Amino acid sequence: MEIYKENKLKVYNSLSKQKEDFKTITDGYVGMYVCGPTVYSNAHLGNVRTFMFFDVVYRYLLHLGYKVRYVRNITDAGHLENDADEGEDRIAKKARLEQIEPMEVVQRYTVDFHDVLKNYNFLPPSIEPTATGHIVEQIEMIKEIIEKGFAYEVNGSVYFDVLEYNKKEHYGILSGRKVEDLIHNTRSLDGQSDKKNPQDFALWKKADERHIMRWPSPWSDGFPGWHLECSVMSTKYLGEQFDIHGGGMDLKFPHHECEIAQSKTCSGKTPVNYWMHTNMLLLNSQKMAKSTGNFILPNEILSGKNNILPKAFSASVVRFFNMQANYRSILDFSGEALEASEKGHAKLMEAVNFLEKIEAGKTSTFDVQKWKKDCYAAMNDDFNTPMLIAHLFEAVKVINQIKEQKASLTADDLAELKTTIKALVFDVLGLMNENSQDNSEKIKGVVELLIKLRKEARENKDWALSDQIRDELIALGIQLKDGKEGTTFSVN
Ligand code: AMP
Ligand code: ZN
Repeated sequence: MEIYKENKLKVYNSLSKQKEDFKTITDGYVGMYVCGPTVYSNAHLGNVRTFMFFDVVYRYLLHLGYKVRYVRNITDAGHLENDADEGEDRIAKKARLEQIEPMEVVQRYTVDFHDVLKNYNFLPPSIEPTATGHIVEQIEMIKEIIEKGFAYEVNGSVYFDVLEYNKKEHYGILSGRKVEDLIHNTRSLDGQSDKKNPQDFALWKKADERHIMRWPSPWSDGFPGWHLECSVMSTKYLGEQFDIHGGGMDLKFPHHECEIAQSKTCSGKTPVNYWMHTNMLLLNSQKMAKSTGNFILPNEILSGKNNILPKAFSASVVRFFNMQANYRSILDFSGEALEASEKGHAKLMEAVNFLEKIEAGKTSTFDVQKWKKDCYAAMNDDFNTPMLIAHLFEAVKVINQIKEQKASLTADDLAELKTTIKALVFDVLGLMNENSQDNSEKIKGVVELLIKLRKEARENKDWALSDQIRDELIALGIQLKDGKEGTTFSVN
């Protein structure tokens, strides 16, 4: 169903810094590129906030009837420890520290990333290309940039000439930074840099003898600069110009600024029509980040094995928590906030489930059509998920009133409410109709019953049965521990 025609979507464009009408390059088609993870460690919940928002963008565009090609890359080479083209490659460093192959690092954290995405109900992107799978294309793009006069080689490394580019174009167009002020972001003071100007950034770096991730090129055995892969892969799969490019706000500079410069140099065209940036997830009022150790892993939230939260929470509750905030606002993560989300989530799911039991009345006491319009208007207003949730709770209120026989809906309105609420809750927000709280309570009840039966078996000296209960629970990952106070259990 092509409902995008009657839904006038507005998107906040980080480039123009205002909400703009969303017009696709090709009618009915959307090309969207989102910078993916650097797979040198587990993705933390901050990373997941960004990816989850774009998952909802993807879901909503599909829901509106667009055909979407969603490209989200895997950075498996070239991302150095700092943004000034210095330091070790993050993946190579991890490989060195753990004495394993870089591709083992890549495999381990790619698998973990996919596991998280599956647990959190993400739709897979249309294409998930890797940097190492596109070395040839990256070398070709560097050649093109050199030919056009915007890059130079020094000692086997190639740098983009920012000052030269800025004579003709505007370097800083996205981030608002001025070329003159950009000198700080460099370590050239220690005399190590080959760059003509400190603002320049690497397109190709010559690998020193210790660097294991290296490829032959016309300039040296080396590796591509981090910004290059996204220009190359977005152009390859979405064309020289495409609709949406997304990432976290911290990628605006230098990463996205450099992407624009590279792509524009080659095609002469503005590569992206709508730049979208998510704000940061905070923990203890600081940005959640791997480098500072201030983070929680998404799977640790599900297992409850962490030092931050009082208990485990379900993936759907965490999704709901994320969607309760506007993506352009910072979001503070805490146990209290998750507990509040858990209550809201349970209320919403209870109402959605109760919908099935409602019988139609003769009249409607609630304007379902207007409510539906309000829900879509919220999403059409730059994917305003907290506003959508507020409208969903108007429906929850009505459903609860119907429960108490204080409201009613006609058969048509009831059907419309059911279809709309389910589409928005499950298809668009990606929430899941499960309540891990309920399940864990149920599991607890069942295990406690088995503990009781095992105790009775032991009292009757039925050792075979008592051992069978213990062993079969172990096989399920449930460990019984006999102590003075009785038997307790833990789930692995
Ligand atoms: P990385 O793997 O470091 O390249 O990050 C993957 C994505 O997560 C990027 O789009 C980052 O901007 C985003 N990101 C990193 N930290 C946070 C955070 N604390 N909150 C939200 N997004 C983040
Ligand atoms: Zn990128």
